[in-house]
Parts: sequence; C-alpha cells; structure tokens
Amino acid sequence: MRYLILGNGPAGLAAAKSIRASDAGAEILIAGEEPSGPYLRPFLVHLLGGEREAEGLGDPQAAGLAESGISMRLGMRAVRLDIPAKAVVFADGSVESYDSLLIATGGRPAIPHKLRPFPERVLPIDSLANALRIRERVAIPGTMAVLGPGFLAAVTALALRRAGKEVVWLRPGEPRFGHPEGGKVDAEVLSAAAAAGITVFDGGGVAEVGDTGEGLTVTPSRGGWPVTVSTVVIATERHPNTAFLRGSGIESGTGVLVDDELRTNVPEIFAAGDCAELYDRAMQESRLNFGWRSAMAQGRLAGENMTGAGKAYLRTRDEYFWRLFGPPLRDRFKG
Ligand SMILES: Cc1cc2nc3c(=O)[nH]c(=O)nc-3n(C[C@H](O)[C@H](O)[C@H](O)COP(=O)(O)OP(=O)(O)OC[C@H]3O[C@@H](n4cnc5c(N)ncnc54)[C@H](O)[C@@H]3O)c2cc1C
Repeated sequence: MRYLILGNGPAGLAAAKSIRASDAGAEILIAGEEPSGPYLRPFLVHLLGGEREAEGLGDPQAAGLAESGISMRLGMRAVRLDIPAKAVVFADGSVESYDSLLIATGGRPAIPHKLRPFPERVLPIDSLANALRIRERVAIPGTMAVLGPGFLAAVTALALRRAGKEVVWLRPGEPRFGHPEGGKVDAEVLSAAAAAGITVFDGGGVAEVGDTGEGLTVTPSRGGWPVTVSTVVIATERHPNTAFLRGSGIESGTGVLVDDELRTNVPEIFAAGDCAELYDRAMQESRLNFGWRSAMAQGRLAGENMTGAGKAYLRTRDEYFWRLFGPPLRDRFKG
C-alpha cells in the first residue's frame, strides 16, 4: 500500500505515525509546501518578541520519522488532484501516486481586499516565513495593527505589545472567544487587552487604507479612528487550504467535507485537521477544526481509518476549544 499525506502539520504527522503503527510494510510519503521542516505553529507568536528563535520551534512529533521509514518531501505544493489516476500533481510538475490519500493542508487567514495591494506591510501570521518577516518589522519604529476577531488576533496583539510595540487591535465581527459562554469572557479578554496597553477598535472591519509612503493609514469601518501604522498583521480566522481541490470531484463546503470517520466522498481519500469540515454528531453541527491537539487527534484517527479501523471521531471539549478559548485566553494576558 502507498499512502500519500499532503501537509506536514500535526494532523499529517500524526496520521503517518498511526499508519506505520498498523501497517509495518506501508510506503508512506508526506509532502509539505513549506521549505522548513515541521514546527510548532502555536509558538510563532513567541518569535515576534524574541522569546524564542526559529531553531527552537521544531515539532517533536517529527523525531524518528525517517528511522521508521516515513519519507517527507519539503517545498512540495499540491496543485491538482487526479482522482481517476489516483495521483497528486505538485507545483514543480512532479506527480505522486497513492492507494490512500490524506488531505491535511491546514488553513491560512484571508487578507481583506483593501489590504492586498500592500504585501510588504500586510503580513498574515500563518507560517514560519511570515512570522520572521513580521519580526523584522517589529524593529521598525511606529505602531503595528493586528486585524482579526478572535484567538489568533488576541495572542498576536499581546505578543507584539510584549515586544514593546504600540498596538492597535482592529477587531471586526461578533464576540467569539467565549463560545458557547458568550459575551462575559469576551468582555474580559477585551478589558485585559486594554489593561495590557493595547488599543482595541471593536466591531469594525477595514473601511479605507492609504499609503503614507512610510506606513499605512487604516480607517476602521466603526469602533475607532484612522491610525497610521508600519504594518498590519492579519490574524483573521484560518480558511482551509483547499483551492487545489477545485474541479477534482472532492466535495467541499468551507473545508473538505468528511464523515465522522474523516473520509471524504471518495472512499480512499480522507481529510483531517484545519482543512476538514466535519459533521459532529454529538453537537449536531458542522465545524472546522482549530487547535493543535485536536488536529493531532484527527490525524491519528484518519491514519487508523486509512488502514481500515473504521472508528468515529468524537470531539471532546478537552481537545477542542476549552483548552484555548474562554478563561485560558483571558489568563494569557495575566502572565
Ligand atoms: C499564530 C498561530 C498561533 C496558534 N496558537 C495556537 C495555540 O496556542 N494552541 C492551539 O491549539 N492551536 C494554535 N494554533 C492553531 C494550530 O496551529 C492549528 O490548529 C494546527 O496547526 C492545525 O494543524 P493542521 O495539521 O491541520 O494544519 P497546519 O498546521 O496548518 O499544517 C498544514 C501544512 O500543510 C501545508 N500545505 C498547505 N497547502 C498545501 C498544499 N497545497 N500542498 C502541500 N502542503 C500544503 C502548509 O504549508 C502546512 O505546513 C495557532 C495557529 C497560528 C497560525
């Protein structure tokens, strides 16, 4: 059997390991788009103020992969899936075949239209490469803005503030930190951010953006006033990386649609982690993953099911948002 895994984040690595645990003779290849080896994405914010260096972010899950016969190819971006041929085409023109495929390509924040003309000064906090570019801009004098409604924006604004920056947090949309508790935790997070010296513009998106030559003047649609900033860090919600599946026949909603065994509409193709949209029987709703532990748990289960286990994914609060959102997020501001 040849197993191909797209994405070397926690979901992809966990899947590879659980495939190996149940199929000692399997051929397993992980292909990841980024040039760097697997790293701990949640720690990217610690790079911004120099609390950690890139070399210290390696994902311990990657240890021992080669020894257990799991191959990994870096800098490999999947651009097309050919289901009849059971093959994936990569940006460099190479093609990899599979008997069983896992899509574990995660997600990335979407950059609002008005900010797209300024790629030097508008950077998403999504990858090691971009986090290092943001860190270079921390050294540039001036205020930095963080755009985003939830967890990612909160932790990014806090990290920049701790790095000594003046920070404006542009926070569009509805309350979301405390879900399902709602507004109380939300208000606590916002007041903790204000107490940490972060200026919070609450409730609006970006209405206008002007180029001053040295920076950008950003006018929020509501909840604030125009601010001139050196950089806008995009920390909006992660959108599943699924564009390469368009036209392939894989059913997608916001993410790749999977059943509770993490199987797509094509029997030999599975999806796990932040790119997957899973119907959750317990909660009776469709949801996208966000979170390291739950991505690992999904990857592990997808790997087992790719080797025939037939187990259902049961999300637990412990694995999901309860360890991240709500009071734990508020408490990050206290440290
Ligand atoms: C700044 C930041 C802070 C976070 N903090 C926390 C936290 O404190 N706690 C927590 O639990 N979670 C946190 N998260 C979320 C957590 O990192 C994610 O939920 C988790 O990494 C998802 O794992 P994944 O394997 O599904 O995807 P990812 O970790 O996103 O990995 C997917 C990989 O696939 C690659 N890829 C994408 N497209 C392709 C393609 N076409 N071909 C090949 N490869 C591709 C990507 O480059 C990426 O390396 C944070 C995320 C960010 C960005």
